[in-house]
Amino acid sequence: MKVLVVNCGSSSLKYQLIDMVTEEALAVGLVERIGIQGSVLIQKANNEKYKIEEEMPNHKIAIELVLKALVDSEHGVIKDLSEISASGHRIVSGGEKYADSVLINEDVMRVIEDCVKLAPLHNPAHILGINACEELMPGTPMVAVFDTAFHQTMPEEAYMYALPYEFYEEHKIRRYGAHGTSHKFVAKEAATFLGKDMSELKIITCHLGNGASISAVKNGKCIDTSMGFTPLAGLVMGTRCGDIDPAIVTFMITELGMTASEANETLNKKSGVLGISGVGSDFRDLEAAANEGNKRAILALDMFHYRVKKYIGSYAAAMGGVDCILFTGGIGENGPETRESICADLAYLGAEFNTDTNKGLRGKLADISTENSKVKILVVPTNEELMIARDTKEIVSAL
Ligand code: ADP
Repeated sequence: MKVLVVNCGSSSLKYQLIDMVTEEALAVGLVERIGIQGSVLIQKANNEKYKIEEEMPNHKIAIELVLKALVDSEHGVIKDLSEISASGHRIVSGGEKYADSVLINEDVMRVIEDCVKLAPLHNPAHILGINACEELMPGTPMVAVFDTAFHQTMPEEAYMYALPYEFYEEHKIRRYGAHGTSHKFVAKEAATFLGKDMSELKIITCHLGNGASISAVKNGKCIDTSMGFTPLAGLVMGTRCGDIDPAIVTFMITELGMTASEANETLNKKSGVLGISGVGSDFRDLEAAANEGNKRAILALDMFHYRVKKYIGSYAAAMGGVDCILFTGGIGENGPETRESICADLAYLGAEFNTDTNKGLRGKLADISTENSKVKILVVPTNEELMIARDTKEIVSAL
C-alpha cells in the first residue's frame, strides 16, 4: 500500500508518498508560492532533486503537478496514480469534534469548515487540498488527521480558561493544543523503545522547534499541553511570546496605541527568542551569538530553557510523577546544549542526565539518561508524515 500524505498551507504544500510496507518515503516534496508569481515544486526521490517551475495559481493546479511529478517517467516513483491507495491530510483544527483521525466524507468536511474560525490560516487551505485530491483522484479514500485530536482527552480542568462560562459555550474558547500528531508519535515511539505499553507510562513530550509545545501523556492519554486556544501560548518560541500576562495585550492597545492586528503580529512574529535577543529565531545563530558573549542572546536562551523546565515540573505534578521525559522537534532533536541546560538539574525528579551520551547527539533515537536514572530521558525524532500515513492505512484497511 502507498499513501500520499498532504500538508497544505495557504501558499505552500508539503507532500510525501510513503510505502506502507517499508514505511519509507518514496518521494518528499515541497511546493511554494501557490497563487503567487514564481511558483515552484521541488521533489526529492531516487536520490535526486526534481524541480518544476511553472505558475500554480491555485491548490488544484499545484496538486495536479505533484501527481505529475510522482508519475513522471524519468523522475517519478510510480507508474500510475492507481498505485496510490489513499491520501492522508494534515488538518490543523478539528475543534472538539474529533479525538482521532477519520475517513473524509461530507460531514467531516462540514466540521473542517466550521473550524475555520479556530484556524483561519490553515483550515481553508486544507479544504482546497482535499477538494483538489477528490477531483484529481476520484474514489481514492482520503483521511483527515487532526493536530488537535490527541489533546482531546484533556480533562475539563486542564482545557478550560477561567473566563465567563459563556465564552466556552457560545464561542468554544478553550485550550485545544497543537502538534498533537507529533506528541502522539513520539510518545508511542518512546514506549516501544522502552519495551513498555503507553498505558503503563507517564511521559512528558517536549516538541521544541520554531513552534514549541510540551505535553503530559498519562497512560497513553494527553492530559495537558502548553499550547492553548491558539499556538501562541506556552513555551517561549522562535518568534512567539508563549505565556504572558494577558493584560499586556490591552496595555499594548490602550497605552501603546497598537491596533489589534499590530498587537497580534508583534506577539506572533516579533517576540520569543527573536524579540528578546534581536539576533534571530534560529537556535544555531543564537548559540553562536551567546558563545561570543551577546547578553541578550544568552538571556533569550536562558528564558527558553527556564520555561521548559517549569513546564516539566508542573506536568510531573499534574501526572503525580513521570517515567520518561523526551525531546523532539528541530531543537529537541539537534540541540544538545538546549537539552543539557534543561535537564542539568532535574535529579530532584529522579531524572539523571548523561552528559556524555548527549554530547554531539543529533537526530537519533537515544537514551540520554544515566543507567540508574529512575526517569528515562530520551531523544525521539518525530515523523508527523509517517504518523499521518499510519492512521490513514489503519482507517482505509478497515473499509
Ligand atoms: P518548525 O517545524 O516549527 O518550523 P523545526 O522543528 O523544523 O521547526 O525546528 C527548526 C529549528 O530547529 C530551527 O529554528 C533551529 O533553531 C533548530 N535547529 C535545527 N538544527 C539545529 C542544530 N544543529 N542545532 C541547534 N538547533 C537546530
